[in-house]
Amino acid sequence: MQSMKAVVFKGQNRIAVEEVPRPVAGPGEAVIRITTTTICGTDVHIVRGEYPVKPGLILGHEPVGVIEELGPGLDTLYAIGQRVIVGAITPCGQCFYCLNGVHSQCHGGLGGWRFGNTINGAWAEYLLVPDARANLAPIPDALSDEDVMLCPDIFSTGLSGAESGNIKVGDSVAVFAQGPIGLCATLGAKLKGASLIVGIDMNADRLQVARRFGADVTWNLADGDPIAEIKRLTEGRGVDVAIEALGRQETFESALRAIRPGGTLSSLGVYSGKVTAPYEAFYAGLGDQKIVTTLCPGGKERMRRLMAMIEHHRVDLRPLVTHAFALDQIEDAFDLFSHQRDGVLKVALYPGGKPAKAAVPATVGALDEQC
Ligand SMILES: [Zn+2]
Ligand SMILES: [Zn+2]
Repeated sequence: MQSMKAVVFKGQNRIAVEEVPRPVAGPGEAVIRITTTTICGTDVHIVRGEYPVKPGLILGHEPVGVIEELGPGLDTLYAIGQRVIVGAITPCGQCFYCLNGVHSQCHGGLGGWRFGNTINGAWAEYLLVPDARANLAPIPDALSDEDVMLCPDIFSTGLSGAESGNIKVGDSVAVFAQGPIGLCATLGAKLKGASLIVGIDMNADRLQVARRFGADVTWNLADGDPIAEIKRLTEGRGVDVAIEALGRQETFESALRAIRPGGTLSSLGVYSGKVTAPYEAFYAGLGDQKIVTTLCPGGKERMRRLMAMIEHHRVDLRPLVTHAFALDQIEDAFDLFSHQRDGVLKVALYPGGKPAKAAVPATVGALDEQC
């Protein structure tokens, strides 16, 4: 049996690079050689023991790679050596939930999220892709790994906050938290035609990026509660749509206070414990408000659409890729990312070793030449 290098979850606050068996593709499955992947805030929750997964699992759910092996039934659809991404969520496309249009809940609650959750993930040299026919999304030739590495999760999730909020042209929108997902939600609000976007965070660097991504107004929580300012900007009403992109009681509550009667709270955060809605902000349950939740949309058609937005220059996500590491350096990368040091937004991880020219924005031109 052939082996490969992978990052294995060993229990709370412990991960290790280990030599493990390399996967083999069965019917309907594919194996991709991972060329680039990244760390997600959810991985931080997992490693800290705040979201349970089994020790021994390979983590990571954001794969960019090259098809290495195709199981029976796939060779007329794909080719060995083809560059692909796979969504963090891998719907089967055939179950009750998929056929009712809620692909992320494939086979039941959160069931579409398999990589680094219920099956081995992308922090490895090779990754087994289930239901490959529904999930392998070819990368357009013009795009580099770094161009598309945020499509499997961050861009899909952030954008879905704006889509599920059903933002209409001319809407006012507040986005609570401007981490990578909140920044993509801000970008999504702009793409959906919001007239006013308020970006909220407590990190001044992130608020600066928020302005580049479409926020007209930014509010630093160090300056106090943003609700009065939001009301002032919306003739006293509150915004049409608020997007929650952190997963905390405080931000959920602020987002609820920020919307007008009849407004929508679109929630993307991963919560733990209980979330409560205060009486006044909830209008005693009679405010005609909508609270919608969304798990990252996946599947190859979603990935194709997201990559098309990048290919045709509607969006550029490379400013979010601030650091680069070899997969072997996962401990350093994880430490930097989880503590949000040095202006980090997202890190590129390379299982094949760190390229001579890393994917930081300063070298974007050089990366273009390589592709
Ligand atoms: Zn994620
Ligand atoms: Zn399904």
